[in-house]
Amino acid sequence: MTFRGHKNNEGRCFVDFGSDEHPILIIGAGPVGLSLALALGKQGFAVHVFEQLDDLSPEARASTLHPSTLEMLAAWGVIDAVLKCGSPVNRMQFWERETRALIAEFHYDAIAGDTAYPYRLQCPQSVLTRVIKTHLTAHYPNVQIHMGWRFESFTDHGDHLSAILDSPAGAQTVNGCYLCAADGSKSAIRQQLNLGFEGMTYEDRFLLVALDADLRDLFPNLGPVSYMFDPREWVIVLHLPDVTRVVFRLRDEESREDALQPESLRLRLLQFLGVDDLTFNLVGASVYAVHQRVAEHFRVGRVLLLGDAAHINNPMGGMGMNSGIHDADCLSNRLGRVLRGEPDSLLDDYAEARRDYALHHIREYTHQYYRDMAATDATHRAQRDQSMRDIAADPERVRAFLLKASMFDFKK
Ligand SMILES: Cc1cc2nc3c(=O)[nH]c(=O)nc-3n(C[C@H](O)[C@H](O)[C@H](O)COP(=O)(O)OP(=O)(O)OC[C@H]3O[C@@H](n4cnc5c(N)ncnc54)[C@H](O)[C@@H]3O)c2cc1C
Repeated sequence: MTFRGHKNNEGRCFVDFGSDEHPILIIGAGPVGLSLALALGKQGFAVHVFEQLDDLSPEARASTLHPSTLEMLAAWGVIDAVLKCGSPVNRMQFWERETRALIAEFHYDAIAGDTAYPYRLQCPQSVLTRVIKTHLTAHYPNVQIHMGWRFESFTDHGDHLSAILDSPAGAQTVNGCYLCAADGSKSAIRQQLNLGFEGMTYEDRFLLVALDADLRDLFPNLGPVSYMFDPREWVIVLHLPDVTRVVFRLRDEESREDALQPESLRLRLLQFLGVDDLTFNLVGASVYAVHQRVAEHFRVGRVLLLGDAAHINNPMGGMGMNSGIHDADCLSNRLGRVLRGEPDSLLDDYAEARRDYALHHIREYTHQYYRDMAATDATHRAQRDQSMRDIAADPERVRAFLLKASMFDFKK
């Protein structure tokens, strides 16, 4: 990293980024912050990304890239590297867990005329971030990624802003033209702005189990991505390149500690698969709470919110990370235009359009998904199954279903 520092009369170090006096500042090197850095770096802007961790997060979180997101990664020049790291999935299934009846299967061939990527790619976000960071480092000297720098606060001066960060060399003040908050669901920037983050937390917790066994050998006709409805304990099965993830609803009466015991995990898997024995290595297991929340505003002056800092939703349908990357796509377009001289109001358009999409599309879609997964009422369950079968029987409705599931419904 090349910068020169000097101390002001309070003893705080100010960082002078040389000719990039007012670069774009991005806080957070998650999938969303790095996507934004890539999209802006490609346009030639000076960008500085600050990440509090010393290395990119290895956490097992999002793992699905939808076709619309693959199109963005293609436009940013990283698609070949991303495709090499993931497994393409050409269909998704919906099952009744109890009866083991396959209700519907949707083949992505139905959208082959709509996109160059008629499949979803299973690729963990910890892999995606590494691919993007490697690409940025190799191709974009105008993008600097500073690891081990924690954002603390900012001041908006009207014509520019300054941010205080805790760096490996101590507190630093950095000037920028805009501050992009991609600092995740607990965003310190959103908190400094005192913005509401209204919504709800689900009563259910999710239990994620990662193992090295391919469950398709044990569960006849199981596809690579399967959602299993059940009033008591719904299940999601995702086959990733070298690991299988199974997500269970954790029942109210179960304690987190008991559920995570290796023997409890094994018994749960055996019960789900209907087998007496299963040889596998546990790759990881976690229990997490799930929320639906949207920030009050996505823009305040020179600060722009995106990704989990702006909105979080339940993971049904795999829309969290994807919608954050879509925010990055939309914001990079609007911010690029503003920096090239178009009206600043384009940033309000970004903020309103993406907030509206988070509130009225993602939140409603993922909540309906959840309701269907967990439905207990017999009439609701019968209607849900019949509706899925009706859609699967009509090619035009399958196409519409997959376009929506692939998040092609945002008007750019
Ligand atoms: C357990 C779990 C499972 C999930 N499963 C799915 C799924 O199956 N499908 C799906 O689509 N989504 C899923 N999600 C959501 C998905 O992971 C997020 O939507 C996605 O990570 C959002 O990316 P982001 O870059 O906005 O935020 P993050 O990935 O949270 O990245 C934020 C980054 O900012 C850094 N940061 C935070 N504060 C500061 C600071 N003060 N200074 C500097 N850096 C900072 C963090 O260290 C982090 O690297 C899951 C989330 C969780 C928690």
